[in-house]
Amino acid sequence: MTAQSKEYWLSKQQQTQLHSQAFIDGKFVDACTGETYDTINPATGELLVKTAACSPADVDTAVAAARRSFNSGVWSEAAPRERKAVMQKLAALIRDNLEELALLETLNVGKPVQDSLNVDIPGSAACFDWYAEAIDKLYGEVAPTDGNNIATITREAIGVVAAIIPWNFPLDIAAWKLGPALISGNSVVLKPAEQSPLTALRLAELAKEAGLPDGVLNVVTGYGEVVGKALGLHNDVDCLTFTGSTAVAKLLMGYSAQSNMKPVWPETGGKSPNLIFADCNLDAAVEHAAMGIFFNQGEVCSANSRILVESSIKDQFIDKLIAKAQSLPVGDPLDPETRVGALIDSNQARRVRSFITQAEEQGARVATGGVGDEATNFVAPTILDGVTPDMTVAREEVFGPVVAVLSFDTEEQAIAIANDSIYGLAASVWTEGLNRAHRVAKKLRAGTVSVNTMDALDFSTPFGGYKQSGFGRDLSLHALDKFTQLKTTWIKLGS
Ligand code: NAD
Repeated sequence: MTAQSKEYWLSKQQQTQLHSQAFIDGKFVDACTGETYDTINPATGELLVKTAACSPADVDTAVAAARRSFNSGVWSEAAPRERKAVMQKLAALIRDNLEELALLETLNVGKPVQDSLNVDIPGSAACFDWYAEAIDKLYGEVAPTDGNNIATITREAIGVVAAIIPWNFPLDIAAWKLGPALISGNSVVLKPAEQSPLTALRLAELAKEAGLPDGVLNVVTGYGEVVGKALGLHNDVDCLTFTGSTAVAKLLMGYSAQSNMKPVWPETGGKSPNLIFADCNLDAAVEHAAMGIFFNQGEVCSANSRILVESSIKDQFIDKLIAKAQSLPVGDPLDPETRVGALIDSNQARRVRSFITQAEEQGARVATGGVGDEATNFVAPTILDGVTPDMTVAREEVFGPVVAVLSFDTEEQAIAIANDSIYGLAASVWTEGLNRAHRVAKKLRAGTVSVNTMDALDFSTPFGGYKQSGFGRDLSLHALDKFTQLKTTWIKLGS
């Protein structure tokens, strides 16, 4: 779908309501302290709305509402086909409100409206649909016991789920959590990132319109170290699903240990390698390598932020990648031509720029891009050449449109460099050799390996990491494992 003109979106903005209150027990409410914080458009610096800054007391209210709704059975005990109908209605409402949601996402996080319209919002609707379609086709098990007993193994909703999510794909990642958590009968308290509450709040309203009973989905807005921490420490939260940084995931695991030992499912950061062998289709590799790091301003957990290229083709590869990077229009996210929008906020822009400066200090060369105008949140696609595995930019997640290019001479060396990371979320391999493709894919320590493609993803396949990229899995039927628990029921047969 081609996005409308910038003027169209600006006039639509005038007619669009921006929610600012938390959503608890089916109603929009202020934080109990009355406190708010500023939600800013990162592309313009404009104040969009003053959002409720919830406190631990608001979290208590939301968790209590979730618990009440769960215990009442109004959702948790509804037939799977009834839950399916509500989720399908929600997916349809998301599609009906596609433009509004796309606008909210773009105003809030700075991503190109073309991407919000074609990727984020349709993706979230499709995710709800996928789980809705699945739920009334899942069966329990009967164990192979002796003839005097029957043992059934069933999956039950876990109860009250807390979902803490980041700002890079706000509606999509909300759907990745809510789809499986809600469809399996749980009640949820969702905490969007403080920077990006807008689509989560509108989603809660649409879910109510779709028929989701009050209290089943609550959205608490506010700061991570207040609201997120209160959820992590809450004794009446049964399960916590998280997408965000490795550092915060570790805190949440600690909060669980300090409270009720709730399972914590982290999906965290990455430093994903893209291995480019000399026997690859070079033009396709360049095209995808650019997409793999510059899409969504590089604010993608599985961004292929380390390119490992075979020495014999490195110069040729870099020249083509520079040309591709320079062809991507950077600028106003509401302009339909824009391919690289604004970074989420000035902190993130500063952080990204500091990686570029530090890489130069450590001996890398800026082949294109660079720090740019430091008064804005825009950073152009940046390629750092001559990076070595020990440099900070080869080891730490930048979460911006900055790629580190390293070179290798042998397959073994490429694999060793690729695996030399605390992360293991994703990896890509470019080669026309079938044996090499299998050999290398097997040796890469990453949750998803894409061969001759980039960041391959589908609702039917699990997404998650190895090592400190976390251990939860989003998407696919495997995601249901996080939000359900196994019950074994033994029945002794009488004579
Ligand atoms: P973040 O960890 O700073 O924040 C994520 C969420 O945690 C936010 O809602 C935030 O408010 C909350 N939070 C912050 N401090 C907290 C605390 N002390 N206690 C509880 N909650 C707290 O991450 P971010 O900056 O929003 O997002 C970027 C990170 O997310 C990157 O590391 C990226 O790789 C990761 N990410 C991972 C995936 C994945 O699927 N693996 C997907 C997208 C983003």
